[in-house]
Amino acid sequence: MGWSNWSGSVASPVATTLPQSEDELAHRVRTATKVRSTGAGHSFMPLCASDELILNLDALPGRITIAPDRETARIPAGWSIKRLTAALWDEGLALANQGDVNPQSLAGAMATGAHGTGVDLGNLSTMARGFRLIGADGEARWCDAGTDADLFQAQRLSRGMFGIATEIEAAVVPAFHRMVSACALMPRPTRVSISSGANSPRALPGSAAPRSAKPRCWPTAASPAS
Ligand SMILES: Cc1cc2nc3c(=O)[nH]c(=O)nc-3n(C[C@H](O)[C@H](O)[C@H](O)COP(=O)(O)OP(=O)(O)OC[C@H]3O[C@@H](n4cnc5c(N)ncnc54)[C@H](O)[C@@H]3O)c2cc1C
Repeated sequence: MGWSNWSGSVASPVATTLPQSEDELAHRVRTATKVRSTGAGHSFMPLCASDELILNLDALPGRITIAPDRETARIPAGWSIKRLTAALWDEGLALANQGDVNPQSLAGAMATGAHGTGVDLGNLSTMARGFRLIGADGEARWCDAGTDADLFQAQRLSRGMFGIATEIEAAVVPAFHRMVSACALMPRPTRVSISSGANSPRALPGSAAPRSAKPRCWPTAASPAS
């Protein structure tokens, strides 16, 4: 059975390969000529199709590491947004923004510039701070704003063109509840306090609800249940 994206609009005859280790992934990349990577296959364009090798990182071991300043985290690149936000939530942290669903992988969401809403909030790729990449030569390299900066900037919204990301350093913010103001189920808007920080959503003027107030009609953006 081959691979297809979420909608079935893009398909390949080969099934995804799930390396069990980074060494295996590197070997497979090194010995193949037409390599693509995929996360959840939620993109609609033909970005992941290959008739030779389509890699998926779901079987790669890895864990999240929160930086001591709690402003960034190193995350296995293949983790879904759902898994990531659940892990961050347990640490009292969140992504500043995300799209309307959460099965997509962090790597795929960044590589496609997936976005949520909010004029002051960047897309997922703006949260990138560094990448561990397996290049076409099978070698692992790290890039960030200070190390291989051109590669880092290109990788932020790469559509999978510059290597396979196995680990991503991303900006995180203190956990917050989003405002729900346009819900028909609510008699009037509920405004809840949110966090501060460069990547955080802004506090809303006139926000009077106590920090413990919870939106009443759907789960919060960063909630594991969302
Ligand atoms: C129901 C639905 C709702 C959506 N809602 C939104 C939304 O609210 N906002 C929005 O902006 N988009 C939205 N999208 C689009 C979707 O979020 C993005 O296309 C998706 O985030 C991509 O993530 P993915 O894991 O599915 O990546 P895939 O589609 O599997 O891959 C996307 C790209 O990432 C690359 N890639 C994947 N893994 C790696 C890796 N480890 N290293 C390097 N490159 C990699 C692939 O090669 C490919 O180029 C939605 C899509 C669907 C189906």
